[in-house]
Amino acid sequence: MTAARKDPTTVENEVREKIHLEILKRTGAYHANDHILLPSGQHTSEFIEKTLVTTEASFTEGLGAVIAKHFAQWPIDVVLSTGPGALILSHCVARAHPSRPTLMYGTKGVSAGKRKVTLPAEFHRLIRPATKVLIVEDLVSSGTTVKLLSDLVEELGGQVIGIGALWRRTKKSEVAGKEIFSLVSRDFPTYPPEQCPMCKKGVALNQEFVKRREHRRPSSARERN
Ligand SMILES: [Zn+2]
Repeated sequence: MTAARKDPTTVENEVREKIHLEILKRTGAYHANDHILLPSGQHTSEFIEKTLVTTEASFTEGLGAVIAKHFAQWPIDVVLSTGPGALILSHCVARAHPSRPTLMYGTKGVSAGKRKVTLPAEFHRLIRPATKVLIVEDLVSSGTTVKLLSDLVEELGGQVIGIGALWRRTKKSEVAGKEIFSLVSRDFPTYPPEQCPMCKKGVALNQEFVKRREHRRPSSARERN
């Protein structure tokens, strides 16, 4: 029997992804081999705490530089963070990009039950026709936020070059025809309690993340991505 050979690019990408995962593990943001209760009530064995991903400044600089390097072949005028949460990473991307782009951020919210993304008015005049924009997000789940922000940029006449992210949970590698380049592309399965394999094995349930969230802020103010 012959094992299918992986092509060198695939192997290189896998190795790189492992390194990035290890970096995120060292920040304390990435948890694996656990049995975790999510705020949704679902159970999972892996979890990423978004607020911790940029707590190690030198790691963030390194990760930002990898994203900048990927997009270095294109001139970029603006690095646009999806929100305050991704702003530290966005800063590191902007610093490392050879075009010396300016940095700005959008704000996320929910209006009439719908997700909404806005750009502070002061930034509007900085996006002119043909302004080249790189959108930066920490964690891309459904891609809705980056899609809304991309639409907003295009309404202002700007051109979205791509999307840089730390982590991509969705299998889609593009949003609205724009490439998503992520340091880690990985989804983790979530289970309703009655179908959870860890529950079946009797593994103790870790409720730490849900408790911590409840202490921190009311659910209505939760930032969504
Ligand atoms: Zn479970």
